[in-house]
Amino acid sequence: MISLDDLNSLPAPQFAAALSGVFERSSWVADRVSALRPFRSRFDLHRALCTAVEQADTDEQLTLIRAHPELAAKERMRGELTPESASEQHAAGLGACTPEELARLQQLNAAYAKRFGFPFVLAVKGHDRAAVIAALEQRLGNTIELERAQALREIGRIAAFRLADLVDEPLGRGIIAMADELARLSDRPDGLSCSYLTPAHRATAALLRDWMLAAGLEAEIDAVGNVIGRWRNSAASKRTLVTGSHYDTVVNAGKFDGRLGILLPIAVVARLRGAGVRLPYTLTVVGFAEEEGVRFKSTFLGSRALAGRFDPALLDKVDSDGVSLRQALASAGHDAAGIPAVAFDPKTLLGFVEVHIEQGPALLNAGAPLGVVTSIAGSIRSLVSITGLAGHAGTVPMQGRRDAAAAAAELILAVEKRCGGTPGLVGTVGQLQVPGGAINVIPGRCELSVDIRADRTEVRDAAYASVVAESERIAASRQVAIVWDKALDIACVPCSPDLQQRLVESITRVTGQISPPRLPSVAGHDAMVMAQITPVGLLFVRCGNGGISHHPSESLSAEDAEIAAQAFRDFLLYYPAG
Ligand SMILES: [Zn+2]
Repeated sequence: MISLDDLNSLPAPQFAAALSGVFERSSWVADRVSALRPFRSRFDLHRALCTAVEQADTDEQLTLIRAHPELAAKERMRGELTPESASEQHAAGLGACTPEELARLQQLNAAYAKRFGFPFVLAVKGHDRAAVIAALEQRLGNTIELERAQALREIGRIAAFRLADLVDEPLGRGIIAMADELARLSDRPDGLSCSYLTPAHRATAALLRDWMLAAGLEAEIDAVGNVIGRWRNSAASKRTLVTGSHYDTVVNAGKFDGRLGILLPIAVVARLRGAGVRLPYTLTVVGFAEEEGVRFKSTFLGSRALAGRFDPALLDKVDSDGVSLRQALASAGHDAAGIPAVAFDPKTLLGFVEVHIEQGPALLNAGAPLGVVTSIAGSIRSLVSITGLAGHAGTVPMQGRRDAAAAAAELILAVEKRCGGTPGLVGTVGQLQVPGGAINVIPGRCELSVDIRADRTEVRDAAYASVVAESERIAASRQVAIVWDKALDIACVPCSPDLQQRLVESITRVTGQISPPRLPSVAGHDAMVMAQITPVGLLFVRCGNGGISHHPSESLSAEDAEIAAQAFRDFLLYYPAG
């Protein structure tokens, strides 16, 4: 392997030589980007290389495509493959074809070459022989223009996998670079927004899967869109330690919330595998598809499915465009009927550990890069609709108006008053609308959300009950109807004392800090849902910029990402096989 800094500083011919294996027998690609150095990350380097291919003329592109060997073809038999192609084809099992499979592949390869005039190119990582044959059969039906573009895309993916094997980055820098790369995929051009099953969300899943494959995990996207990577260390152990977090985001989000807990384990696994380490258990890395509840006003869709707690009634929920969850799944190519089958068998689980950015200032103020969570606050979220009577803003006298927005204002102040002053208790109205409202119309209807959390379930429930009682008083005095629809009710979740202790020990071994901070989490996390089936632990990583989160200024330093990765690596190495 070679470091990015070395690649950036090598003389141009050595730079091209170092990258000569990335594009099959085509070192001109690297030649063309050498003057664009320095690259900030291997992703910037990859983007520049792919742009050079895009900007090459058609003859050069065809020559590049033709430089690729046929899959499972005679070059393989004669040992004439480049080392990169040989190992990729071996990993896809193409060296072990049955005579029937070999005959089928040769027949399809010949038909393909005859039809398009170049060999079939496929990034085979993540494919087995049957999947390779199926892809070849399917692509044989494409037009030549489509197929040439597809071949170049496959070559770009192959180059990404090869660069991942070639470029050595410090863990922390690599994690930040991956988060930056994912943040480029957004529902909106300004900032990062990644809602469940949008095109950006699906592209994020595909990229996470590629990175898991590059790290050597077996990777798949399940029926709700969770990206699952498995590192099976031995056939003997059926039990798995699970780690992960969510890859969906709020609107205009920070780039580490959730994603850190997926990217950090991927980086650590790649490093451990590279060093030849084997763990005494299977490690499963999960990118949960949905946690924030932005699109369908229902949170934890990904972890609920994996915990076997996915209520089929959720499939009828609709987004703001009237698209049901069931329809959204179908148009993303998912089979809702397959959701029950994605659940973990709790008997196979060794535990769940989640790495998450703190989303608050406690670690920053304590001067500590890492902290161990003691419990996760429970929350109740409700959507409240208030119905009054609309009327003319000029002609209806103030006395006796049934103004839904004025009732909402009173309710918001009641939430603020009831939840203020009790340590650990917080209450928020984050959404407030007058649907169809106009400047000269008394609001006939108002909708708002209420989110109440506390570190103890009884405290939270008491606050919720008294806010609901207060809303009944407001409804009576203002002659409006107030309807509460509870969207979420999750009890406080204590973290496992054993996992807490193991995390503390790992932090101490890595940082030398004898008693790292222990703190409650006020935000909800996938670990809350996973706690229903297995003991959970939650490792917090210091959040910069005063602890701001759910905001583009959310920040994490490469140094803290590095320390977190080292502590997580240590945690994995010491974790017992059960
Ligand atoms: Zn999160």
